[in-house]
Amino acid sequence: MQWQYLSDLINDANRVIIGQAIEHFYLTDGLKQTFGEADILIFPKTTQEVCAIMQFANTHQINVTSRGAGSNLVGSTIPNHGIILDLSLMNNIIELDKETFTVTVQPGVLLIDLQQFVEKQGLFYPPDPGEKRSTIGGNISTNAGGMRAVKYGVTRDYVQALEVVLPNGTLLKIGSKNIKDNTGLSLKNLFIGSEGTLGVITQCTLKVIAKPKASETLILGFDSIEKAIANITTILQTLTPTALEFVERKVAQWGEQYSGVTFPLPQAKAYLIVMLDGMDHDDITKQRQNLLAVLGKVDYVIPQTAEETQQIWAVRGSLVRAVEAVSQQDPIDIVVPINRIADFIAYTKQLEQQTQVRMLAFGHAGDGNIHLCILRDNLDDKEWSRKLKMVHDGLYQKCLEFGGLPSAEHGIGTAKVAYFNDAIPLENRQIMEQIKQLFDPKNILNNRVYRQMINP
Ligand SMILES: Cc1cc2nc3c(=O)[nH]c(=O)nc-3n(C[C@H](O)[C@H](O)[C@H](O)COP(=O)(O)OP(=O)(O)OC[C@H]3O[C@@H](n4cnc5c(N)ncnc54)[C@H](O)[C@@H]3O)c2cc1C
Repeated sequence: MQWQYLSDLINDANRVIIGQAIEHFYLTDGLKQTFGEADILIFPKTTQEVCAIMQFANTHQINVTSRGAGSNLVGSTIPNHGIILDLSLMNNIIELDKETFTVTVQPGVLLIDLQQFVEKQGLFYPPDPGEKRSTIGGNISTNAGGMRAVKYGVTRDYVQALEVVLPNGTLLKIGSKNIKDNTGLSLKNLFIGSEGTLGVITQCTLKVIAKPKASETLILGFDSIEKAIANITTILQTLTPTALEFVERKVAQWGEQYSGVTFPLPQAKAYLIVMLDGMDHDDITKQRQNLLAVLGKVDYVIPQTAEETQQIWAVRGSLVRAVEAVSQQDPIDIVVPINRIADFIAYTKQLEQQTQVRMLAFGHAGDGNIHLCILRDNLDDKEWSRKLKMVHDGLYQKCLEFGGLPSAEHGIGTAKVAYFNDAIPLENRQIMEQIKQLFDPKNILNNRVYRQMINP
């Protein structure tokens, strides 16, 4: 039988699951709305195993879908038959090098475990996407962003070196612990954000920095979303906050109901949540004073304890799950230049009226990344597809008009192919196609992701 070779290779029945025995969890993504099919699910533990699996798959032209925690929201881990390569057991922290400020890990290490590990050593890994139980391999493959991107950047900014297994089983070692590197083309940057289409990451060396000694959160209340958003530029002209999020009151209420935590300033119609960090308490006080001076008269609350602060961020972090507890939703991850956020939000209100489809907006105000949950409510399948297309067409077209892009951080996957085509010129997509062919001439790796996008 075809799979005997792989079973013998791994030689551990718990790490090779065949056919019907594969749980549904592994056939989908973080939304769990669409499911694929797979013949075999393998949990490799070593790079050598990954090399051998890829070599076998390439020789026999078998599709492979790599997977971390499966929390992506764009269908990129929905398998297209063949092999699911689940990297979650490759989860060792290999080395913390305090002298070069780097940490080397296997790809299945969870973000939360890495963050806690380095913080215990007085260090800090800034990328902070909302799903803390996502894996570092998944974060690199999606160039994950998150709330702290406004000050610290995204995952790409912290990747120093990678080990990657190519579709034919060849192992590439890319990058180094050096801070600066202008030695040849940056292969490393090709893999970051490529959604698993070019190779399988089996080891990653990440940059860490000194942990900020103090931080503080302010919740600013406004009587309209327009007024809240009008202050974003003022804030960014004054300082660089660690995080700068906007949430409408009606959205915060969903979070309150879901998490059981009461949000302050209940009379406000919209909030900006600002996180500051710095070297010490005086540094934070100075930043806060500067901020409040430029904002003028504004309602604000500063949580007094670590627990209260954590609860505020828990409400913000629970918004997607809070929405999903009430209705199926389709997540949007649009980015617009920060001077167009207000216009874009105004457009969503107009579209909501036109289509009678509810949309909840919140997001990373500091970098123009707007998350919208489009609610299905009680629409039947036919009406949901019709209206969702209408809403998508409107949103993605408007985002392009404003100079924006269809994805800030979630990626294209299988879900946003059509809108990617509209956003990226044909010549660029043709070069991407050539790159894919160079790395994966038999087109076996994550071959649903990007395909229609590249072949218009
Ligand atoms: C509640 C919630 C909140 C979220 N918030 C954010 C957010 O704030 N910011 C953000 O950017 N994203 C966010 N996400 C999306 C998601 O968590 C990220 O995309 C995350 O980086 C995916 O990591 P993962 O381990 O789950 O990867 P998976 O979903 O398993 O995989 C994602 C992609 O990476 C590929 N891949 C995974 N591991 C490897 C590997 N070792 N080698 C090669 N390819 C690999 C897969 O093939 C797939 O294409 C959120 C998701 C949820 C459910």
